[in-house]
Amino acid sequence: MKISIVGTGYVGLVTGISLAKFGHRVICIDNDKDKTKIIQSGKSHFFEPGVDKLLKEVLKSGHFSVTQDLTNAILGSEVTFIAVGTPTVNNKIDLSFIKKASKLVGLALAKTKKYHVVVVKSTVLPGVTEGVVQPLLKKYSGKKIGEFGLCMNPEFLREGCALENALYPDRIVIGQIDEKSGEVFSKVYAKVDAPKVFTNLPTAELIKYTTNSLLATLISFSNEIARIAEHTKGIDVIDVWKGVHLDKRLSPIKGKTRIKPGLLSYIFSGCGYGGSCLPKDTKALVSYAKQLGVDAKLITSVIDINRTQPHRILIQLKKALPRLHNKKIAILGLSFKPNTDDIRESPAIPIIEELLLEGAKIVVHDPMVYKINIPKQLNDLDIKFSKTSKEAVSGADAVIVVTSWSEYVNMTHDFFKKYMKQPVVIDARRIYDKKSFMQAGIIYKGIGL
Ligand code: NAD
Repeated sequence: MKISIVGTGYVGLVTGISLAKFGHRVICIDNDKDKTKIIQSGKSHFFEPGVDKLLKEVLKSGHFSVTQDLTNAILGSEVTFIAVGTPTVNNKIDLSFIKKASKLVGLALAKTKKYHVVVVKSTVLPGVTEGVVQPLLKKYSGKKIGEFGLCMNPEFLREGCALENALYPDRIVIGQIDEKSGEVFSKVYAKVDAPKVFTNLPTAELIKYTTNSLLATLISFSNEIARIAEHTKGIDVIDVWKGVHLDKRLSPIKGKTRIKPGLLSYIFSGCGYGGSCLPKDTKALVSYAKQLGVDAKLITSVIDINRTQPHRILIQLKKALPRLHNKKIAILGLSFKPNTDDIRESPAIPIIEELLLEGAKIVVHDPMVYKINIPKQLNDLDIKFSKTSKEAVSGADAVIVVTSWSEYVNMTHDFFKKYMKQPVVIDARRIYDKKSFMQAGIIYKGIGL
């Protein structure tokens, strides 16, 4: 099939190259000239394992191209995805990008007589595809449903393993305005061996918010349990999770092997969730619920626990270093999780901000977030960036491990002892073996201790 995608960010690019790999002809559109230039050169404008390699492959095979020319890209395709951003501003979903894209797609559709399916891939609240996108498409194309089709196909990829998720999806949710739309659109995923769930438009939209809110809830629940453990003598939350995870309903036994579902990584304590999805989607869902007169008490608490979780790291640090003024604190990890350079809503940011208020001297290392990528928000802060983790840790009064990059997971107590001024290690992700660290003389503190 010939497919166009409006918006070539994380979702648009990963979707585009995956669909090209499935054998479709894909053209990605972005109004950011710099991004299209980088992509044309065979590189992605963000770090995601495997993306550059597949991008080069599909560019070479001729199955994938990128452009700024939205109208011609749409006219040359049968299906158009809308994959632009839907940020949350002042706790409310900002639909300005979706509205603009819908208008431009509508104007392009006015120029063709062929049947065309428009698919909303962006995460949007229930009612947006039908009540916002549809009217704009109709208005600017001068057409009605039947002359064009409309679907909502939420994206479930996870940064850090986005390509694998896109190539081998666990499910494909197809919200359809009518059967014809869903029937034509489902051909896009004809070769994909995954269950297809056909729904109406608002159900597809709510499936995405429910998925993200469930994951956020598990994380905040785990962090609430960590707080209870922190206030109870003799409990380490890690031992609590060991005991909980062994419930066969959470980790079933098949034959003699225990299966460890990916969901278990969300039932674990740390310094909170971040990234471009969970924080904004939970906030948008709460404000949507409010509009409906529903007091979303649980998700509101989930957000509140997450907002205050980074502060727990400072509490742990102060147990070892009560006065932080002029102390050199090394932050290991800026990205909100490993294998991505995305620092949006990363817990590292509030941790750094709070440390600066206490007068600490901050040195930061992240294997992927280089100084050049650091947003202005961080560049304006009085912090030093180190090229290597060794440089960051050297001479530090304390180290806070914020992201569980494998480079940090593999660090030994000897490494910290050798290079630090005093071996204070704050394990915000609980990646180290507490016992051996303590036995080696590390002053070890962490979430849930
Ligand atoms: P992004 O900000 O990385 O990318 C959006 C892209 O759209 C940008 O490159 C921007 O330049 C482009 N754009 C905006 N308006 C345009 C227009 N009128 N014409 C052409 N290009 C335009 O966003 P993202 O992370 O890819 O997310 C996109 C959507 O997918 C959001 O709704 C998000 O919630 C959802 N989502 C994201 C993820 C994720 O992990 N990033 C996962 C699932 C769903």
